[in-house]
Amino acid sequence: MPTKARANLETLYRIFTVPEAPDSTLGAVDQAITADVAGFLQNHIVAMERPLEEIEASFSSVTIPEEPTYVSDYTEFVKENLVAQSVHTASPGFIGHMTSALPYFMLPLTRLMTALNQNTVKVETSKAFTPLERQVLAMLHHLIYRCPDEFYPSWIHNSQAALGAFCSGGTIANTTALWVARNRFFAPDGAFRGIAQEGLARALKHRGVDGIAVLVSERGHYSLGKAADLLGVGRDHLVKVKTAEDNRIDLKALRQECQRLQDQNIRPLALVGIGGTTETGNIDPLEAMADLARELDCHFHVDAAWGGPTLFSDRHRHLLAGIERADSVTIDAHKQLYVPMGAGMVLFRDPTAVSAIEHHAAYILRHGSKDLGSHTLEGSRPGKALLVHAGLSIMGRKGYELLIDLGIERARTFAGMIRQHPDFELTSEPELNILTYRYCPAAIQHLLATAPQAEQARINGLLDQVCQLLQKHQRESGKTFVSRTRLRMSRYGEEITVLRSVLANPLTTDEILTSVLSEQCEIVRQPEIQALLQQVWR
Ligand SMILES: *Cc1c(COP(=O)(O)O)cnc(C)c1O
Repeated sequence: MPTKARANLETLYRIFTVPEAPDSTLGAVDQAITADVAGFLQNHIVAMERPLEEIEASFSSVTIPEEPTYVSDYTEFVKENLVAQSVHTASPGFIGHMTSALPYFMLPLTRLMTALNQNTVKVETSKAFTPLERQVLAMLHHLIYRCPDEFYPSWIHNSQAALGAFCSGGTIANTTALWVARNRFFAPDGAFRGIAQEGLARALKHRGVDGIAVLVSERGHYSLGKAADLLGVGRDHLVKVKTAEDNRIDLKALRQECQRLQDQNIRPLALVGIGGTTETGNIDPLEAMADLARELDCHFHVDAAWGGPTLFSDRHRHLLAGIERADSVTIDAHKQLYVPMGAGMVLFRDPTAVSAIEHHAAYILRHGSKDLGSHTLEGSRPGKALLVHAGLSIMGRKGYELLIDLGIERARTFAGMIRQHPDFELTSEPELNILTYRYCPAAIQHLLATAPQAEQARINGLLDQVCQLLQKHQRESGKTFVSRTRLRMSRYGEEITVLRSVLANPLTTDEILTSVLSEQCEIVRQPEIQALLQQVWR
């Protein structure tokens, strides 16, 4: 960097050229930051105790600095205010969310991706990355649909088709899937030029229906609500079907809801099966849902944002049986493919399905071009497919299988610990690597089992407060972390607050799991929580 920070062309020029000497200031800063990040990643503490309000103070100035500054000065700020205050999502004690550790090679490859700065919206800015992305989509398509080898050569690089769409995450993947479903349902037909052209009001009129609906279990991800809103389905017509005790969709209730909609002349546009619910990790009966979708002649989407990579495991693949009958499947790469944040995919069984959302423009995305942007919701996008490709190539199917098997095994171990512990109640059995539980000592469990409903509700209300305080204190003390959510439990006929654990970090040990529970037992000894527990007994 220049000896004096100046806003002039020379400085600008230097900022955008690669520093020549490897020991330049920028190189040194780079090394320092890399070392800090590496140290940060190795730190097993989950978060610093500093409250958010205090951190906000470092980010409160609204004036854009008038004068340039040295990169080294800026990185001091980054080290102090960002690196040091970030959440240690890579910590093996951070077992509360779907964000966990990354394979080390993702960091240098992300730098490479950034350095190349390819824009995968069009071939003119992403040669090599476009076929790479198409290959990655084909690999995932093959993982799900297992089409014969002869199937792929005619589709993989075909400008008229796409085996899927790459995007920033599960939300866009789910939205894209339902967008395709909607546009196919309201496809051009005679004088009607399709919903994409004529809009929803005319489309409904053309089909003679009073509305369209999407059906999913009450464990469905909130992204479906956003999609229902955007696509004109309406949140009222995102029908949340109740689940049974095992957190899977109640098929009888699903049929009843479909009937109710049809009686109102509302057309079920899509059934959404969940391949690993966000909160409890359970998998819907996909085969039965595929049957029903066929019977209703509607789109069948499987949201396997979390659980999709279970397909890598010989032992557990069967849990997703029926996924190959889905018209579309969502898989998040930034979850169990262990790619950095911002990568998701939707795969389509029929590679011509995306023609329903095709978009063309004059200067790019021309007809017949292989531009990926002609059928993605997003425009400019980074070459994140490289990172998925790297994971698949370096770790291989067996590497991912190991990760999946380990996670499921560890969740079973943790469930066993909770079941045996006199002070905890397991609130959902792990099917994959996610489980929920709550602090509820054996004596209170017995009391609840025989209490009349009003008394159950009172006690559960107190336990909810205990759970909330417990989770908050654990998060603030920063040693280990679990999240919390609210679930309607058929056992109690009402929503209760539960702790949620996601076991995706291969470095999480049984000792850490034991320490999570012992830390929780320690926290509940605080007077504030003891007072609540006393009230249970009045
Ligand atoms: C995480 C998740 C999503 C949303 O994905 P984002 O990447 O956060 O947009 C959708 N569905 C399920 C089941 C998920 O677990």
